[in-house]
Amino acid sequence: MQLFYLVLFLKVYSSFAAAESPSVIIVGAGAAGIAAATTLLENSITNVTVLEAKNRIGGRIHSVDFCGGVVEVGAQYCHGENGNLVYQLLEKLDVLESSNLSKLAFAKLYTSNGHVVATDLAEDLVNTIFSYDEYLNASSGVSLQQAFLEVYNSGVLKKYSHDEQKQKIVKDALKFVKDAILIYEGAFSLEKVASRNHFVGSDGDQNLVFKNQGYRILLDVLMKSYPNPNDKLPIDDKILLNKTVTKITWNKSKVVVETSDNVSLIADHVIFTPSIGVLKEQMDSLFDPHLPKQKKEALDALGFDGVMKIILHFPTKWWKDDDYAISFLWSKEDLLNSTNEFPDGPSKDGISWLANIPSLVQIRPNYNVLIAWYVGDLIPEIEKLPDDILLRGCNYLFKKFLGKDYNVTDADKVLKSQWCTDPHVRGTYSFEKVGYSKDNVSHNAKLAEPLVNEEGRSVLLFAGEATNPIHYSTVHGAVESGKREAERIIELLK
Ligand SMILES: Cc1cc2nc3c(=O)[nH]c(=O)nc-3n(C[C@H](O)[C@H](O)[C@H](O)COP(=O)(O)OP(=O)(O)OC[C@H]3O[C@@H](n4cnc5c(N)ncnc54)[C@H](O)[C@@H]3O)c2cc1C
Repeated sequence: MQLFYLVLFLKVYSSFAAAESPSVIIVGAGAAGIAAATTLLENSITNVTVLEAKNRIGGRIHSVDFCGGVVEVGAQYCHGENGNLVYQLLEKLDVLESSNLSKLAFAKLYTSNGHVVATDLAEDLVNTIFSYDEYLNASSGVSLQQAFLEVYNSGVLKKYSHDEQKQKIVKDALKFVKDAILIYEGAFSLEKVASRNHFVGSDGDQNLVFKNQGYRILLDVLMKSYPNPNDKLPIDDKILLNKTVTKITWNKSKVVVETSDNVSLIADHVIFTPSIGVLKEQMDSLFDPHLPKQKKEALDALGFDGVMKIILHFPTKWWKDDDYAISFLWSKEDLLNSTNEFPDGPSKDGISWLANIPSLVQIRPNYNVLIAWYVGDLIPEIEKLPDDILLRGCNYLFKKFLGKDYNVTDADKVLKSQWCTDPHVRGTYSFEKVGYSKDNVSHNAKLAEPLVNEEGRSVLLFAGEATNPIHYSTVHGAVESGKREAERIIELLK
């Protein structure tokens, strides 16, 4: 009889304890994972463990010390102010400033024969990059490539049809304009991207940058160690680095999480935050039981390719302070000759890898570092290219395009992003794929739906930028998603 009461007491106590303070494992310590963990801690849910595969927190936020300054290998800008949670968290802390990178900054456009494109024409070309409203008018179900070509042909191409010289430039500029759009979409090709999407931009400055500390300050703000270190949430001992999750068994009462070093942990809930690149590649080995059909369909409808940053240091600064960006327009003839002129490194369709750098962007004045954006499906190869080829290639490119107007000096150091070949990321940011649009269906929202165990409890929850129906592909989208899933658990306890 005594034993019966003891068992009953233990059962009642353990379910009471679970209801009061459940155990939560968060997979991934990127913006979403840290936002989830800090939201739980702030709400007195302290039995929290964050498992992170890398040896650092931040995920796709990766601010790195480089040649006397801080550079962003991953996220760089706070895109907008109103309705942007990152802006709201930081606006009073004096850590953000304008980058002066307006749309028209990209209109400083040089051709491969070394001449600058006339301002009116360059501005018309750059304006097509940002004609999002017009792409949205395209009929549903077409690719961004198709919608864009319609806007381009009926707009800028028609406008200059009576000027043979300028029309040649407009035709040649097609590659530059498409490549510049790819930076925003994060896809390898515009043919994969849906022309209509559910993304909602935030008003205000679209390209705010971080002052000296870099984007990593956002993580400190979430953990409350900034501005006052004494306010820091008790999170340090809850984050376990170098812990790669290999299996999540989720349909029983407790979720079992296994790591690559043979550790097994149990929890009431798991919040899974890794990128959809990881999910697409590993979902069948990661989840037991496998993810249901609806989850796989949502994953199929979302794309995850990549862009790349080639970060270059120059011993001597050769550009002007107000050169916020410089863009490159290859003539058709020079493209076809590009592998003869610079034979090193990969090529595609007889065109050198070097042709896929649409723009060069300044980071801040008085810092001898520029970022070359790289786009297209050669990225996985370029991420592995030896530094000396990257340096020689970029130095050749800048002299070819800019050598007539600038006293271009050689870059001596390079830092390259490697997000596509990173097994814990496998790309950069998500996009909506063409061919999957159904009216009023948000595949990102479907991805965010929690999975319930055999007792009907929501045990496996999903966060991360791609689970955000309107702010996917951004840091603020990731932070919102982490908070959303933490709040879901808090709600379950009420
Ligand atoms: C080059 C680049 C530029 C960008 N620019 C901007 C920008 O200017 N502005 C903007 O708002 N956004 C930008 N983004 C997008 C932004 O960085 C992301 O949307 C956001 O940081 C994603 O956060 P997350 O927490 O969803 O995912 P992640 O940051 O990817 O975090 C997931 C974490 O899970 C870990 N993980 C993966 N697998 C496992 C496993 N099996 N076990 C344990 N841990 C695992 C990963 O290591 C990672 O730390 C950029 C991204 C890139 C790559």
